[in-house]
Amino acid sequence: MSTANYGDTREVIAPADFHVHLRDGALMRLVTPHVQKGGFYLAYVMPNLVPPITTTEMAMEYQKNLRESSGSSKVEFLMTLYLSDALDPNDVKNWKAAGIVGVKSYPRGVTTNSDQGIESYDKYDQLFREMEVHGIVLNLHGEIPSDHSKNTCVLNAEERFLPVLANLANTYPKLRIVLEHATTEAAVKAVIACGDNVACTITAHHLALTIDDLAGQSFHFCKPVAKFPNDRLALQEVVKSGNKKFFLGSDSAPHPILSKSTATPTSGCAAGIYTSPILLPLVAHLLDSFGAIDRLADFTSNFGRAFYQIPAGGYSPKVVLQKVQGVSVQAEYSSEGKTVVPFWASRQIDWQIVNVEE
Ligand SMILES: [Zn+2]
Repeated sequence: MSTANYGDTREVIAPADFHVHLRDGALMRLVTPHVQKGGFYLAYVMPNLVPPITTTEMAMEYQKNLRESSGSSKVEFLMTLYLSDALDPNDVKNWKAAGIVGVKSYPRGVTTNSDQGIESYDKYDQLFREMEVHGIVLNLHGEIPSDHSKNTCVLNAEERFLPVLANLANTYPKLRIVLEHATTEAAVKAVIACGDNVACTITAHHLALTIDDLAGQSFHFCKPVAKFPNDRLALQEVVKSGNKKFFLGSDSAPHPILSKSTATPTSGCAAGIYTSPILLPLVAHLLDSFGAIDRLADFTSNFGRAFYQIPAGGYSPKVVLQKVQGVSVQAEYSSEGKTVVPFWASRQIDWQIVNVEE
């Protein structure tokens, strides 16, 4: 493992973001083109709209809207459904043909638009068994709701979810499960301890932030929150190690600027960090900062595609990045009255996309 010199280049074939929020309406039209702008050609799209995506018809309609909003025919949008009672186990066999790749589980009330999330997984036994048979992936937001009587809060909500992950992995050994946006050393260890049916996404921002960066900075607020320095180090080390279970899911989650920056005593700050428009250069910068730049292609394309069994296909652009001296991140993006602020706005990134070979 090494650190790059200025002028060095790295290549990634068909970069893939295996966890992204693209919203709907005007916000969708603003942010969807940023997937490709950020260097990515596959977007694994979260279903937490209002109302959530719970049918193949809704997912196909959403996919159509995303393709139109993208302004490019080159980005592949993979669709997910929101785990809820609305999902019928008898329908699972039809999902793949309709372009459904996974089902996303949100614990109730833990994050943005998760009011209809799960409380117990027992009632989904039949659904999960059908998903096992038909190769549908289960995506877990791995936190339990805060419960102060049990001393559960945002800082230990992920760690306390991990026994649930282990139990699911054992009960459904052929069900492919992804623990999404891991933030803790405990989560890294738990994923490694599970069988090969379990993988884990890591965001760019959790490779950068600790809880100190969040305190007093609302644009660093997301769920799960960034944790301790040893947790960040564990995420960095597992990426550096080249463990194929760990790959990028940006969890890029745009919110209008007013819902990030004007919290009042009665309305809090929305959870979510927006990384799509700078994603691949940002990841390169971060990996380079801890000596893992040679893992860039594995982390941002190869490992995730292997787990999802979605190899780079007919259209497989080669994205070339170069290490340069400080490119400023744009302060904000606006359209149709919506404004979003990207992660690290106005800060400098030492990598940029210099070519895309199609
Ligand atoms: Zn998310």
